[in-house]
Amino acid sequence: MPASLTFFPVGNGDMTLVTLDNDQQLLIDINIRKASEDDNDDTPDVISLLREKLDRDSDGRLVLDGFLLSHPDKDHITGLEAHFHLGAPDDWVEDDDKILISEMWSSPIVFRRASKNHTLCPDAKAWDQEARRRVKLFRETGAIGSEGDRIQILGEDEDGKTDDILAIVVSIDNLISSLNCVEANAFEGRLLAPISSDDVDDVDKLDKNHSSVVIRFSIRGDGYADKCRFLSGGDAEVAIWEHLWDKHGDLQSDWLSYDILQAPHHCSWHSLSYDSFSDMGDDAEVNDDARNALSQIRKGAIVVASSQTIDPEEADPPSDRAKQEYISIVEDDENRFKCVSDIWDEDEAPLVYEITSSGVVKGLKAEAKSAAIGLGLGSTGAQARGHG
Ligand SMILES: [Zn+2]
Repeated sequence: MPASLTFFPVGNGDMTLVTLDNDQQLLIDINIRKASEDDNDDTPDVISLLREKLDRDSDGRLVLDGFLLSHPDKDHITGLEAHFHLGAPDDWVEDDDKILISEMWSSPIVFRRASKNHTLCPDAKAWDQEARRRVKLFRETGAIGSEGDRIQILGEDEDGKTDDILAIVVSIDNLISSLNCVEANAFEGRLLAPISSDDVDDVDKLDKNHSSVVIRFSIRGDGYADKCRFLSGGDAEVAIWEHLWDKHGDLQSDWLSYDILQAPHHCSWHSLSYDSFSDMGDDAEVNDDARNALSQIRKGAIVVASSQTIDPEEADPPSDRAKQEYISIVEDDENRFKCVSDIWDEDEAPLVYEITSSGVVKGLKAEAKSAAIGLGLGSTGAQARGHG
């Protein structure tokens, strides 16, 4: 299987599957709405689309190597309890046939900030409980558990709460290089945020802005390193991006460079500006530092909005003004800005980018692919559009 990124159509929400060239899979967020399971509703059935892409282990369980939660808001965690096994892996029930998460990737700081601002939804609480179970197990045994018990903590918690479990903590600005205890050089991920409160003068600013895990992945394609850089930042808003540019702009701006950017917060204006667009209209200004952080493109880079169809008349997110800004970032090439909902409407398929030795290639539609194979064209055949 080639490495790929799959963006599932979940409206204003995120659900992205990273497949590596060693066949490992990392899911980033979910928004599996009830309506998507109703045959009489046209909400895309994303859980079926996901399950098709996963393999079963020797015990017959559908397995994900990893699941990264960017932050615990509803549109990033809906469907966890219904579709994923939580609790000890031995308690997995065949009849329920839920997906086993071999390794969780979770940030205690992001959880703290989210629960300060609002009550967590039941799925978010269930994630938190499962993360605590796995951390407790590590504390008790001092050993990385088996599949279904593993966790990587993204960023140290406050007040030294994670100081005794540093073996499972990745510090901010460091690299994540293993997934589910496999270190295969198939990827590396630079952990850029959550930003630590010690790092900023104005903690209020962090609390008011959506906080999220921000990782810049570098993904191998067909055995060749660094063929796709993917910048994934959940719902991180303007203060976060402004800070990242302030911190890395001079010396490490390369850490922010990308071939594919998932436009933060479903293409919200508030990832690019402090000004209210509804109050100020065209006078609302883009924050230069945030824009710089989000504009470190590599050749042919693409911006993906995981959002509803972008309608200038509708409320933000998604924001048409933000979309125009991202199009200007990708050198005014409208074809390099993709909205996942529009792709679904056109193709009835998720948006897929394959990562090959020649870089990022847009995946063919399923039907087109079988036709192409019939014609003797591979998945990187004549219809695929390469770049980079
Ligand atoms: Zn969101």
